[in-house]
Amino acid sequence: MASVKLFRVFGIDVRIHYSLFLILLILVWIFYIQEFPYGFRGRDYGLELSIIASVSLFISVFLHELGHSLVSKKFGYNVREIILFIFGGVAVLERQPKGMKELAVSITGPAVSFAIAAIFYFLSFSDSQPLADFSAVFFRINAIIALFNLIPAFPLDGGRVLRGFLSRYVPPDRATSIATETGKAMAIFMAVFGLFYNLWLTIIAVFIYLGASEEEKMSRLENLLGKLKAEDIMTSEIKTVSPDMTVGEFMKIAFRAKHLGYPVVEDGELVGMITIHDVAGKPESVAIRELMSRELVTVNPDTPAMEVFRLMNETGIGRIPVIDNDRLVGIITKTDLVRLMQIQEVLRIGR
Ligand SMILES: [Zn+2]
Repeated sequence: MASVKLFRVFGIDVRIHYSLFLILLILVWIFYIQEFPYGFRGRDYGLELSIIASVSLFISVFLHELGHSLVSKKFGYNVREIILFIFGGVAVLERQPKGMKELAVSITGPAVSFAIAAIFYFLSFSDSQPLADFSAVFFRINAIIALFNLIPAFPLDGGRVLRGFLSRYVPPDRATSIATETGKAMAIFMAVFGLFYNLWLTIIAVFIYLGASEEEKMSRLENLLGKLKAEDIMTSEIKTVSPDMTVGEFMKIAFRAKHLGYPVVEDGELVGMITIHDVAGKPESVAIRELMSRELVTVNPDTPAMEVFRLMNETGIGRIPVIDNDRLVGIITKTDLVRLMQIQEVLRIGR
């Protein structure tokens, strides 16, 4: 994701997505034009308060995510980063907690938002202005965030709470499908309702629907890849190229083999990766060595297949070499994973 790192806290990188800068402006505008107590229209210091409220809102979204993260860490799940972006934030966990732990992790975020709301609720009775005005608006917004997140629909916290709760009674994949189906159904209802009542609801519903579908896909993938390792899904017949090869020679091979990228091997050792994109527009006489990328992301034959998939998603690299004792033994591409899913889909329907 396109984001910049802000700071590091409790060993977690806090990043902001570029969309946030745009969202911040939109939020300032909404706060500025909304009628009090959902905005500062016509109040003293209206614009200043709108700006402070927008920035504060992201601080409270950050605290909400930090709540999720710290409970995850307590259960022994590593949290790498928190990304703040459109409609709040996400905490990136290396593995998702399951069952009651998922329930505990999920409920913490809304609990933090409610706590912030409670503090500003009391401050809204203050005698000093504009603190009272600010608090009156800010406590409502945080309460809305907490309530909205408790809607039992994926990908909201409430959807996870529901899945955590259900998984006590039904198998995990069944719990996931009930929670995602509920999420989609609610999103459709919300979208239609929003068309007549408030378009914001329709827009949010679209995001909920997409999130629920994404979650469904991930859980299906987890079912498929869960028991497999890199060696089970890798392609062992690999077309490699030498670093001394020229672009011209490389193009000939690429036309015949029709892959987009190739491992570069020298004396039996992997030294780089080269793709069609790297050589596009370069003179035919240039050596591959000059153009290949040397920063390699590799996995071992024992690496869980799900980990390989996650690595591809995070790095955006579509082709990961499998290395065993410095020797290149296979390669896994995004296309391989997509085909695996198609195969599984056919087998599932055939049953
Ligand atoms: Zn949350």
